[in-house]
Amino acid sequence: MGMGRDGGGNKDGHVPAVDVTVVGVDVGARRSVVAFVGVWAKLLNDLAVVYARQNGVSLVPLGIYDAMTRAYVVEVNYPGVDRYRGNELTSSIISKALGAVVRAVHSVQRVHNALVGLAFEDLRLFNERKRDLAKARVVWELIVNRFGEVVSKCPAVKTSWFWISYRGGEVVVPVRDFIPIVLVEPEYTSSMCPRCGAYLGRARGGKVTCSYCGFEGDRDVIGAMNVALRGFLILVKCVREGVIGVARELRGSAHRLFS
Ligand SMILES: [Zn+2]
Repeated sequence: MGMGRDGGGNKDGHVPAVDVTVVGVDVGARRSVVAFVGVWAKLLNDLAVVYARQNGVSLVPLGIYDAMTRAYVVEVNYPGVDRYRGNELTSSIISKALGAVVRAVHSVQRVHNALVGLAFEDLRLFNERKRDLAKARVVWELIVNRFGEVVSKCPAVKTSWFWISYRGGEVVVPVRDFIPIVLVEPEYTSSMCPRCGAYLGRARGGKVTCSYCGFEGDRDVIGAMNVALRGFLILVKCVREGVIGVARELRGSAHRLFS
């Protein structure tokens, strides 16, 4: 499947007027992995790492860059929510790490007039592959609740549009601080090769190698990349159908949703 500004095979050949970049987050019980894909992926990655350091937390670059997926990947670790004071610490670390990502997004939006979205799995949906789903979900709620105040719907996304069919109805696109938040279908996010789309099996933990294309990564990394890629496809589709876009007259200062 084509990626990038002119990928995706739209019938009328319409090209979105804006650059799309997406930050995908695989939320785990004690570790979250963040993948940056799209036009400004590298810049966002670099800025987020620096801003996190300024906030006193570590977004650790995992040194994974793949020419096909064009994803940059970092991780953040925290104690989790089941230890003494773990909840407080975890909340604080996540808040600082996420704050760094949001600041990076704002910088890129301001300077380049680009559309940058955040993508998360929709953990309100059943997801059997998560080992520590209940714990991960507590962390996920910490994150998503920060953004969940304003909710819009993107009616452009309704049907099979992914490597695997998208079961759900509408995709929820909450918007906070002018950053669209895309909640993607959680099914198979950690069991499909982010480079070639091959099924990687249900085995858990550790490093996985795709037997078709040779891509290597652990499940969280694969999850984050797939979340980012799915979010990317959704945002591009919303942009193409005019559901979401950059308000040109407010160039440099704001994005808005219109529908
Ligand atoms: Zn592969």
